[in-house]
Amino acid sequence: MKKNKKTIIFDLDDTLIDTSHLYWSVKYDILNFIHSKSNVSYKELDIMFEEIEHKNTIKFGYDPSRYKISANELCSKCDIKDIKDINYINKIADRIILDDPKLIEGAEELLSYLYSKYNLVLLTSGIQKLQFRKIKNNGLNRYFGEKNTKVVEKKDLKIFIDFLKELSLLPENCFVIGDSIKSDINPAMECGIKAIHYNYKHEYYEWEQDKAETQYSFNSVDKLLDIKEIL
Ligand SMILES: [Mg+2]
Repeated sequence: MKKNKKTIIFDLDDTLIDTSHLYWSVKYDILNFIHSKSNVSYKELDIMFEEIEHKNTIKFGYDPSRYKISANELCSKCDIKDIKDINYINKIADRIILDDPKLIEGAEELLSYLYSKYNLVLLTSGIQKLQFRKIKNNGLNRYFGEKNTKVVEKKDLKIFIDFLKELSLLPENCFVIGDSIKSDINPAMECGIKAIHYNYKHEYYEWEQDKAETQYSFNSVDKLLDIKEIL
């Protein structure tokens, strides 16, 4: 970490990599399969699945293996009991863990632009092994070494304060860039870090679990490369 440079604390999922797209495509395949085996409409299945997911995210946190649990709960609600069907659904749900989400448009260009100008660090929530694999397989380890990456269970004010302390950073010398008002923007701004919101949008999917109100004002961009104009 260079002392004369400011530090940018990046979020990973839905900021640099398109995690929601992977979740959406797995959900789409699960619901379509259940729909083909039951007389419940896709829309109803979607509502039921989101309710189960909401409950299981509270219970199991951001551990992606909960998706399989949620899929199995939906199967039993729809009276799908054939072991072949359940195995097929489990195989689809495993893609959440086995597949890597792809880079979001502009991520690579933004990081290579910022790399020489700032200290770049990553603060991400999830399972350590999985987060490091996603970073490596997308070539992001060029910008974020293991020393500059911290994986936490979930992000809140205390996590940000501890993170600054750990890296001996002052909030006024940092920026946070992330998609979540609840997990990135609010806790960062509460401890005095300037934040830039990346307004992640998926064509079909909205991540209800992470929505929150905010009392802060901050810049929000629809495209990652627009961040260059703000910093
Ligand atoms: Mg995120």
